[in-house]
Amino acid sequence: MEKLNDKKTLRITEIFFSIQGESTRAGLPCIFIRTTGCDLRCRWCDTAYAFSGGTKMTVELIMAEIRQWPCKLVELTGGEPVLQKYLPDLISALFAENYQVMIETGGHLDLSSIDERVKIIVDVKCPGSGESEKMCFSNLENILPDDEVKFVIQDRDDYDYAAKIIKKYKLESRTTVLLSPVFGGIEYKKVVNWLLKDGIQARIQLQLHKYIWDPQQKGV
Ligand code: SF4
Repeated sequence: MEKLNDKKTLRITEIFFSIQGESTRAGLPCIFIRTTGCDLRCRWCDTAYAFSGGTKMTVELIMAEIRQWPCKLVELTGGEPVLQKYLPDLISALFAENYQVMIETGGHLDLSSIDERVKIIVDVKCPGSGESEKMCFSNLENILPDDEVKFVIQDRDDYDYAAKIIKKYKLESRTTVLLSPVFGGIEYKKVVNWLLKDGIQARIQLQLHKYIWDPQQKGV
């Protein structure tokens, strides 16, 4: 008899149905599949509970779990979902059942082999994260109009870094740019004023789910 270990599995921290709190899809109902494991350690990470543990699940089991909810929008998140060897199998299964698929990734891994139908949210790590040196910038050269590029902003240095990268890769005219002030950190007005003063065509993003539920709560 075939064992679970012999099958194509992904390590999963949680699967839940909520509303999307970020991106241009903010406010929409969304199913989240949070994979386990991340090879970065951003200083402000709010999902460190996904670094280890988790449960091995086959693609079939994951699909069975998500079918219970009346929703066709799925976000693959983590941890770092791109580390999962069988992520392409899961993506194929999702498209086969007509799901819209988003993936949130740290952007330090090569994303060129991801199915072009996936909306990729590339989280460019600014210096405040402590991980900016690891960014794979070819991901920004290959970014598509339907993808999105996000910068988490902790302070003025992060903002200046984001502004430089946005201009260097001409991101404003090529895709959607999101500036996301660290929740409970920098005063949001400051980031907005910098953005307006510089005329950068980016969208300020507040993490909607943290205003609705307890910001420390998992699975929302
Ligand atoms: S990439 Fe995401 S999950 Fe990994 S440490 Fe950074 S914020 Fe946390």
